[in-house]
Parts: sequence; C-alpha cells; structure tokens
Amino acid sequence: MSEDFQILLYYLYRKLENPQDYVEEHRALCESLGLRGRILIGAEGINGTVSGTREATDRYQETLRNDPRTSGITFKIDPATGHVFPKLIVKLRPEIVTFGLGEADVDPNVRTGKRLSPAEWLEAMHGENVVVIDGRNRYESDLGRFKGAVCPEIDNFRDFPGWLEGHAEELRGRKILTYCTGGIRCEKLSAYLLDQGFEDVSQLEGGIVTYGKDPATQGRDFEGLCYVFDQRIGVEVNFTDTRKVVSHCEKCGEPCARYRNCSCKSCNRKHFLCETCEETKGRVCSPECEAVIAAIAQVEPTA
Ligand SMILES: [Zn+2]
Ligand SMILES: [Zn+2]
Repeated sequence: MSEDFQILLYYLYRKLENPQDYVEEHRALCESLGLRGRILIGAEGINGTVSGTREATDRYQETLRNDPRTSGITFKIDPATGHVFPKLIVKLRPEIVTFGLGEADVDPNVRTGKRLSPAEWLEAMHGENVVVIDGRNRYESDLGRFKGAVCPEIDNFRDFPGWLEGHAEELRGRKILTYCTGGIRCEKLSAYLLDQGFEDVSQLEGGIVTYGKDPATQGRDFEGLCYVFDQRIGVEVNFTDTRKVVSHCEKCGEPCARYRNCSCKSCNRKHFLCETCEETKGRVCSPECEAVIAAIAQVEPTA
C-alpha cells in the first residue's frame, strides 16, 4: 500500500527582514519534516513547491500559517503516492520569480492586476474585446493552455518584457487577462502591464491549478494539461466536456501529451514523444541529435 503523500504549491509576496537567516531556518524546518522540493526565498517573499507525507505537509502548512512572516499564505494541494522531487533545495534569490527588471522592478503589493476568481475568469474570457495572455513559457503552453490564448514564444519569464515590446500595438485598448500555473508570475506580469500603460488588466487568482479544482469551473476551456515543475510534468485540469489533447507526437503526429527530454545531452530539448515511437525510435528529438550521439559513441566506445 502506498503512503499518503501531498504536493504543496504556494507563494507569498511579503517583505522579509533577514532573508538569508530565513533560508537557513526554513531549510532546517523542511529537513526536520522530510520534505523535498524547491523553495526560493528573497526580500520580496517566498515561492515554493514541496512534496512530503500528509502529516509532514499538514504540519508545514500549520507552521507557516502561524508564523507572522508567512501568515495568510494559501496552499494549493495535490494528493500523491510518493515524493515528486528528487531532493530539497532552499535558495536565497534576489527575486522569488525572476523578471529581471532591476531598478524598474514591480511590487505586486503596491499595484497588480485585478484578481478574478475562477468563475469570474470564465465569464471574463467570453467577454468582448478580450485578449487572454498565457504568462508562462512556450514549452508550458505547448502542453496545454486556455482556448484562444495568446502564447508568447519565450523560454524564460524574463523574456516577457521583450515579447511585449513587439506586441504592444495589438494589445492596446483591449481588456487583458493573464494567467499562469499558480498565480505568482501574473502578480508581476499584470503589474508590469499596468506600468506599461495598459489600463484594463486582470489576472486569474490562484492560477490554472486553482481553476481546475474549483467546482464552479472544473477547468472548463483549458485545453491540454498543465505543465508542472516536478516529476509529474503534466497534470489534468479540465474535468468537463471541453477536455482535449492539443499536443502531438513529433515523430508520428498522433495526439500525445507525453513530454520527454532529448537523450542528446547537449540538446536535452523537451519534445512530445508517444510510447510506441520511444520504443521503436528512441528518445532522440532530431536527426541532428542522432548524429551527435553517434559521433560521441565513436569517440567513447562503451565497454
Ligand atoms: Zn509517436
Ligand atoms: Zn535533441
């Protein structure tokens, strides 16, 4: 029988006095509870995702809720049958999500886009003159996104301002809706859009993850899976009749939501690959990568 585990996803933008001390303290707390995952701490707050036993993750939530530095924090909780992270990482970072604006950085506590509940979001998406912007990276939106969303061709959140520069004109004067996995990126993204002079900017509170769990929406109109940064890679969001697969195996073209990293180490690109094609053709993403692997095998023959 598998043990009863949980995965927590959470963030809080709140000024921290001594982030370095808090990193040490927080790591000790997580180690004592046997948690694994990735937690970023900075002067602007905390951003984390961890897995652990139900008892440990419950105790962790309680500890953070009772600490004045993190009181009021909300957790998105998924059940699991074991750890979904290989180890624990607790790091000090200048930003808890790297937007890279430097001096021009935005503070979501000062100003951010209007927060919409899942039900409000679903209604707003079907409004007039609306543009829905996916606030995530392309490899995330390739696996799944809201129907009709604009998905920027970016590999990193800090590339968003550059993307916006080239698309500002088509967004001007429209009602902008932004969403991301759990909401943390949109806090900054929507604040940035307001700073850039866009007037009507809203964000999906709690992100895709919350939208899928909400009984009022059940993920309606989210197509494909939600990319997550743990061993699960993709999770189901849409539990309505609008569920569908939007991605295809790069080898055979069949509908496929199975992401695999290219086995060529210098490439490592995430690509959609069905089980059959992996078995028959391997986990290499292109003829170029196949050539690289063949060349390495010639230089370093394995015994
Ligand atoms: Zn295939
Ligand atoms: Zn490759």
